[in-house]
Amino acid sequence: MKQHNFSAGPSILPIPVLQKASEAVLDLNQTGLSILEISHRSPNFVKIINEARALTKEILNIPEGYEVLFLQGGASLQFYMSALNISKLNGTGAYIDTGTWSTKAIKESEKLGDTTIIASSKNQAYKYIPKNISSNKPFDYLHFTSNNTIYGTQFHDFSKLSELANNNNAKLICDMSSDILSKKIDVELFDLIYAGAQKNIGPAGATLVIVKKNILQKNPNLPTYLNYQTHIDKESMFNTPPVFSIYVAMLTLKWIKRLGGLTAIESKNREKATTLYNEIDRNSLFSGLVEVTDRSMMNVTFKLNNENLETKFNTMCQDTGISGLNGHRSVGGYRASLYNALDIESVHVLIKIMQQLEKIS
Ligand SMILES: *Cc1c(COP(=O)(O)O)cnc(C)c1O
Repeated sequence: MKQHNFSAGPSILPIPVLQKASEAVLDLNQTGLSILEISHRSPNFVKIINEARALTKEILNIPEGYEVLFLQGGASLQFYMSALNISKLNGTGAYIDTGTWSTKAIKESEKLGDTTIIASSKNQAYKYIPKNISSNKPFDYLHFTSNNTIYGTQFHDFSKLSELANNNNAKLICDMSSDILSKKIDVELFDLIYAGAQKNIGPAGATLVIVKKNILQKNPNLPTYLNYQTHIDKESMFNTPPVFSIYVAMLTLKWIKRLGGLTAIESKNREKATTLYNEIDRNSLFSGLVEVTDRSMMNVTFKLNNENLETKFNTMCQDTGISGLNGHRSVGGYRASLYNALDIESVHVLIKIMQQLEKIS
């Protein structure tokens, strides 16, 4: 039975995408070759990666002057690579600490130079997004995580951060791993956006990077692979790229476009999140884990008020084909990830068992 997949990552992909991808594993577009056994320099693959880059630009409405790259190493490598490429030598990186992923980015920046944490929600176990952020010392770039996959909080407004960066003549960098392509964004506010593919883009293996070209320092002493300029010059084909992951990303991007682009995706995502949060707030057995105004549209975290009901609820989930609902091991409770490919029907199935549990308890 196909499961209702609420996994936080790697996560659900659209069924038509999985079908097409599985066909291409055996025979890519009647070429008699598998997507897994063709040269990345072959016209078949060059067409695929170029289409993936073009669709990303089209769907996210990326202005001139930015490059779209598909790299490897995940968002985790971007923690270091972004700081390495964007910081002035001996410059200062300003970071907003909203949880595990931000903390990891901070750790990498500290290896490279001056790093300052200008805001943090650590004091309340990352249950909220810091507001009224300012800095009392100058910085060269500002880094933040737009959606905190583990805690279930999300920045809903980028304009103040963009303003803060501008006032400092600093670059704005964002880890968008878990909410990229989930809604419309204004790419122009950012100098660098990165995202591991495995949440909303495709299977693990590729990392999407959107970089404003004129911010790079053209420093030839950077390690070759870690220099964005290398990948810009080679159109994301400096070395063998993650061929299959990029192919499936291209299929997912086509699927988003077919659905009506990010306007349609956003309204679908908003409806799923609103429906589930309404039930969490209504149902006397459950509570949300974070500040209401900072709730994530992608990762909905909640708990049972009475932990003794967990075994019962877990069994009910299992029996209805609900998968991947456990909270991150560092937080506990539950986390329903509502990525693009998840249908509202799956949310309704989850809500139904929450209501059943309420009735029998
Ligand atoms: C999953 C995730 C990461 C880690 O991504 P990798 O590709 O595994 O390195 C980083 N940041 C955020 C916000 C994430 O959700």
